[in-house]
Amino acid sequence: MPDKILLLPDNIANQIAAGEVIQRPASAVKELLENAVDAGATDIRLIIQDAGKSLIQVIDNGGGMSETDARMCFERHATSKIKNIEDLFHIKTMGFRGEALASIAAVSQVELKTKRESDETGVYIEVENSVVKKQEPVAAPTGTSIAMKNLFFNVPARRNFLKSNAAEMRHIVDEFTRVALSFPHIFFSLTANGQQLFHLEAGSLKQRIVQLLGNNYNAKLVTVREETDYMNIYGFAGKPDTAKKTRGDQYFFVNNRYIKSPYLNHAVMNAYQEMIASDSFPMYVLFIDLNPEQVDVNVHPTKQEIKFEDEKIVYAFVQAAVKHALAQFSVTPTLDFDLDASIQQLPAIQQPFTQEKQTAVTSTSIFKGFTQKHQAHFIESSQKTELKHWKDFYESNEQGTRNNEQKKEEDESRFITHHLPLTTHPDTEFTQLLNTYIVAPSVNGFVLIHQQSAHERVLYEQLKTTGQGKPVATQRSMFPVTLELALADAVLLHELISDLLELGYMIEPFGKNSFVIQGTPADLEQGNEKNIIDNLLEQYKHFSSEVKFSKREKLVRSLAKQQAVKAGMRLTEREMKQLVNDLFNCEQPNITPEGNPTYLEFKKDQLDKMFGR
Ligand code: ADP
Ligand code: MG
Repeated sequence: MPDKILLLPDNIANQIAAGEVIQRPASAVKELLENAVDAGATDIRLIIQDAGKSLIQVIDNGGGMSETDARMCFERHATSKIKNIEDLFHIKTMGFRGEALASIAAVSQVELKTKRESDETGVYIEVENSVVKKQEPVAAPTGTSIAMKNLFFNVPARRNFLKSNAAEMRHIVDEFTRVALSFPHIFFSLTANGQQLFHLEAGSLKQRIVQLLGNNYNAKLVTVREETDYMNIYGFAGKPDTAKKTRGDQYFFVNNRYIKSPYLNHAVMNAYQEMIASDSFPMYVLFIDLNPEQVDVNVHPTKQEIKFEDEKIVYAFVQAAVKHALAQFSVTPTLDFDLDASIQQLPAIQQPFTQEKQTAVTSTSIFKGFTQKHQAHFIESSQKTELKHWKDFYESNEQGTRNNEQKKEEDESRFITHHLPLTTHPDTEFTQLLNTYIVAPSVNGFVLIHQQSAHERVLYEQLKTTGQGKPVATQRSMFPVTLELALADAVLLHELISDLLELGYMIEPFGKNSFVIQGTPADLEQGNEKNIIDNLLEQYKHFSSEVKFSKREKLVRSLAKQQAVKAGMRLTEREMKQLVNDLFNCEQPNITPEGNPTYLEFKKDQLDKMFGR
């Protein structure tokens, strides 16, 4: 008898293995999108023909590949993402098994075009049946474009298993949605049969949710955010009235990977108990980050199930977090939303998640992973952002000072300014005149302070240093106010959002021309957030022609003007004291940011002279 065992030819082996990774067009979409994310792309475009059966193409602006890598990437177990078994526990990428492209090349006709930033020309490669058919240099932008054509052209049995175009397209949109949700800071688009279905500008998670899941969630989302020693949860849950009769719009991501978990879903459903009909489904997009040691890391990357070390804690945590969020933002306070006492006792719920603990957790292991910088919910250590804005501060400071210097010169000819002319006696009594001026005794006589001008100077100097190194205390609104703006104002506010955040204003875009004011500086009285922003924009526009000011400088000036106590307002003794004290602690107390005097000094000898004494 002859021996029977034969080694399968590579392309057949690849085809068989491919069956595990690429079951349908949507699986290829997921792999290609994740590769683009892993390559550090900020712009990822997905193009589909015929529900992916004839074409799936992903174009990214990521790092690209060298000529050798471009050939290598189609080999089975070809990966740049891990080198040894330890790396498995520090995965920073979505992929690592090096199987996707090999599988794709085994079951379709692939055209790859790629170029690295540092290379003059790119490389074009055609692969079919796992065999390179063509390779040539090509002019290409930095990044990678992979087109896979005629999926399963060589495996007719598989091809026949594919569902209708509508069904396959739904799977593709699902995968696209999941990836796009986990990376809101990346631009994504999806074009199918020449029609653009999604065009997702980079933005916040909330924006991304509204872009993807629909405008009807506008102003209907409550923020879920709890941080503990054990785990963090971040995301949004739909207000009870957005619950639907069909399941869907329910997303869990664990360490930024989409997972299916009936168990955790149950926890969320429990949090909604008695708030929604028992046969309806709330919307949620929740990101859970926990130490990977608490998760079974050995899960198959294409599998969406997950095992937690301690399921009960995760369950209780998710439930408590969602309950808490709903309770805080609920507009139906008649229901009882108190947290279950037993859950409140859980150490995981009680322990604060300190900065150190957070760093400790995030710096270990694969928690760190999955191209963190793109994660919406990744709490970036502020260093980088600060560094970036340092320049801003520096520039605006310079401009501010230069401007003041120049103004000061002019002013000095008009007023004789003395720093700290006050007698700083603790019992000094102040008098308010005309509800506008404060009279305060000075060393040589007295000063007449204009309360509004003085306050503008005080706020200006305070705001200028706000955010420089130290975080600003923001008070979250219990009932976030929605702001509907005219298009021009909306565009303006969009530009200012990140600067405003540094100043303690949490404003989130919400669909087209709407915004939600989630929080204001802690020291600001709550209740008229809407007016504050309206007025701020008005004020800002007054400065908009001042090209010499940076955006930040304009904003600070606007805020100072807008928040300042107005002339005509009665001040208490304590308020006067505070204001006068703050004013003369300013670097430049004598003028407003615009250069008007904040006070006038009347010297006794001058007065005496005037009275002929
Ligand atoms: P894995 O992602 O598990 O490493 P893949 O088969 O998906 O395996 O990809 C193989 C390798 O090809 C990757 O490790 C990466 O180095 C390279 N690669 C794939 N897609 C891209 C892309 N869009 N841009 C740059 N490099 C890529
Ligand atoms: Mg991959």
